[in-house]
Parts: sequence; structure tokens; C-alpha cells
Amino acid sequence: MKRIFPDFAYGDGPRAGCWWDETVAPVEHPVLRGDVRCDVAIVGAGFTGLSAALTLARAGASVVVLDANRAGWGASGRNGGFCCLGGGMASDASLDRRFGRAGRLEWRRAEVAAVAYVGQLAASLGLDIDRHSQGETCVLHKPGLLPVFEGEAARIEENYGVVPTFLGADQMRDAGMAGPFHGAMTIPVGFGLNPGKLLCGVLSAALSAGAQIYDQSPATRVAGTTVETPGGRVHADRVIVSTNGYSSEDIPAAMAARYMPAQSTVLVTRPITAQERAQQGWTSDQMAYDSRNLLHYFRLMPDGRFLFGMRGGLRSSPAAEDAARRALMRDFRAMFPEWAGVDVTHCWSGMVCLARNLLPFVGALPGQSGVLAGFAYHGNGVAMGMFSGSILADLALGRAPALYPQAMRTPARRFPFGAARRIVMPPVYAALNVLDR
Ligand SMILES: Cc1cc2nc3c(=O)[nH]c(=O)nc-3n(C[C@H](O)[C@H](O)[C@H](O)COP(=O)(O)OP(=O)(O)OC[C@H]3O[C@@H](n4cnc5c(N)ncnc54)[C@H](O)[C@@H]3O)c2cc1C
Repeated sequence: MKRIFPDFAYGDGPRAGCWWDETVAPVEHPVLRGDVRCDVAIVGAGFTGLSAALTLARAGASVVVLDANRAGWGASGRNGGFCCLGGGMASDASLDRRFGRAGRLEWRRAEVAAVAYVGQLAASLGLDIDRHSQGETCVLHKPGLLPVFEGEAARIEENYGVVPTFLGADQMRDAGMAGPFHGAMTIPVGFGLNPGKLLCGVLSAALSAGAQIYDQSPATRVAGTTVETPGGRVHADRVIVSTNGYSSEDIPAAMAARYMPAQSTVLVTRPITAQERAQQGWTSDQMAYDSRNLLHYFRLMPDGRFLFGMRGGLRSSPAAEDAARRALMRDFRAMFPEWAGVDVTHCWSGMVCLARNLLPFVGALPGQSGVLAGFAYHGNGVAMGMFSGSILADLALGRAPALYPQAMRTPARRFPFGAARRIVMPPVYAALNVLDR
């Protein structure tokens, strides 16, 4: 596997301290030994791969899922649990230019459908995923932004078919959302969840439907539609690559330079008492993020713990990880000063994935017959990863997906500088930091 971050990023160091691991029982799967045959081989057992596996197995296909570590080890088992709109970062203007208004609305419809997909699947499987929050709230970090956001209301309604609501700073205090904020906008789509519980539920449904899952079985080569691992090979009719931020340049070669891993870091506190919540003025269970480009995301969870996350560092090493965690702690305490003394019991990092066109790609990899891939959810892959997995399953089965926007079909262009492409990120982050002031 040729990967573009240092080895530390692909080990257990950044993952150590993940709260979700304490909320679900660990599940182990065998290592692949010998040769097996199946209809579809899936590389990567996160939301994308497991959602595809579930859909395929339910349709009667034989499915083998391989993970280099263990199912849920990647971003899917360690994210912030915002099941929300997103998946891409392309602006409306750029979507209109590339796909026309109809193409933009088709993509925006998919964002909403992705959230509904997760909600319906969890309900149909009877999963208790600690669901909370009525949509998602953007809190404004600068004065003067409220009228700008209010001016977007009609466009949001056109995109998502819902009406956003707005609060001034005083109204935010009344709503239990006090802080260094200058207003808020809520779009009533999305909810918070425990990603570990969702992952385990989908995993166990996929197993029950007949999918075979192998841990510690890294794909080391994809030759045609045969996937090689150190312990054996999977001979399949189709291959789905669902490795997102943990992708490699050579698994398969068509992935090279089409994805950009980026780190995100999260902390979770001990349960915060009702009195402490009142002191800080944040009593709402609404999931929220701030209006910065390099944003912070946070939510008070049903058990009273507070989750707070933001972008991670640009480098990966024990020292860089410590620095990212310190920066996260600093921003948390600056935004919620009354909780400065509250113990932070858990903190961890992981990889999200960006693409040059700022949109996810879901479809057949160019020049790689029989091999499909789904990746680049731009830090919002809880809903979009699950949804993309179901599209990939349809494509592998030769079925037309019910909703498969043109915007997701365009193969991601390669980044410049090949395997050295991370050098484009420091100037990008620096520019975004300036814009955020
Ligand atoms: C800290 C953090 C917070 C986040 N918060 C949110 C959030 O609140 N809301 C949201 O929507 N999104 C969030 N995201 C993003 C979201 O988690 C991801 O977009 C989503 O989980 C991607 O799912 P996936 O299945 O495509 O990839 P992953 O879950 O990353 O899974 C990829 C898997 O591929 C495996 N793999 C890699 N190479 C190989 C190989 N050669 N052979 C076999 N297996 C391989 C890895 O071991 C890994 O398990 C967050 C991400 C992080 C890291």
C-alpha cells in the first residue's frame, strides 16, 4: 500500500481514546486465508463498504468485505456522529456552472435523501443509535453575518425543500445556545447519533444477510477483479473500493492522486451536570458548527457528555497529534470557558477525504474494468457514505440507483504533485484561517 501520510496516521495512535469504542462491544472477524470466490469484493469496512455489503447481500449477491484493520476502524468508527447534509463543498454557483440548475438540485436532493436513508435504515433495523437534535445549527462567529445568512434563506429552501430558521444572539441565549456567537441558522435536516452503534448495527445486519467480513486482511493488490491480501485472494465479478481517507495510491492504481486525506480531531468530556450547563448557558441538544471555513463542530449528547471537534493537524506523528489535541482543547475552552475545568475524558483523530472538484465520486474507476469506488465526502460521510454504499451496490448489481446525481458521477480529477500533493494544504489552510478572522 503506497499511502501519502506517515505510517503513524494509519496506526492506532491517532485512534487511541475514541469514546465510541467504550459504548459498543468489540466484534472480531477472521483473517482471510486461502482463495475465495464471490460476486462482489469490497475493500474497506466503513459506512460505505458495509452499507454496500448490506444492500448486496440482501439482494442475494455473495459478498466478501476486507478491512486492513478491523471493521469500523477508519473514520466511520471515530467520527463526530453528525448525520447531516453535506458530502461535497462545491458552491451553488459552481454546481450551476458544471451541472446546470437541475444538476445542482439533484445533488442537493441526494444530501437530504442520504440523511433520510440513515434514519430509515436505523429505524427498520430497530437500532438504538442515541439519536437527538432537530436538524443542524450553524452558529455565526462574526458580527454582521446574520443578514448574510438570512439572505440565503430562499436558496436553502430551493436546495433542500425546507425553511431555515434564524436566531439573534439574545434569542440564542433564550434557546440555551449562549456563547461567543452572533446569531444562528438552523436547517431542519439531520440528527446526531452514536456512529459506533450505527456501524455495529449495519455490520451485524450485513453478516445476518450473508456477507463475509475479514479483519486484518489488507488488499495489497487489485489485479482485474481479483483482490490479493497477505493470507489469500478474493476472485470476484466486481470490486468496490471504499477506503476514503485511508486510501492508497496503488489500491488500485486508478485511485492515485484522486483523493486528499485530511485529519480531524474530536474530544469528549465527562457528563456535564445540569448546573454546569446552565452556568455556561449551553443547554441545547442541537448539534452545531460554527461559520468558519475551518469550522468547529459540537453537540451535547443524550448522556450529558459534550463532543467538540475541529480540523486536525497537517502532519501526523506523536508530537503532531499532541499539538492537534492541545489546539482542540484550547479552542474548546475559549468557546465554552465555564467548562474549562470539566475533564476531557476522550480525544482522538482520524482521516476525512477531499477531492479536487469538491464533490464525492461514486462509480466505476476510469480504466479499471469491473472496479467501482466511492469516496471524498469532505468530512460529511456519515449520511453520504451510507447513501453512496447503496448506490455502489446498485451499480455492482447492474440496477439503476433511485437517485444517482450527475455531480457524483464525475471521476475526481487528480491533484497536482502526485504522492507529494499534501504540500498544497498548508497554503490552503493559511488562506482559510485569514478568511475566518
Ligand atoms: C474525527 C472525524 C470526525 C468526523 N465527523 C463527522 C461527522 O460528524 N459527520 C459526518 O458526516 N462525517 C464525519 N466524518 C467523516 C466520516 O466519518 C467519513 O466520511 C466516513 O466515515 C467515511 O466512511 P468510509 O466507509 O468511506 O471510510 P472509512 O470509515 O474511513 O473506512 C475506510 C476503511 O478502509 C480500510 N482500508 C484502507 N485501505 C485498505 C486496504 N488496502 N485493504 C483493506 N482495507 C483498507 C481502513 O482500515 C478503513 O477501515 C468525520 C471523520 C473524522 C475522522
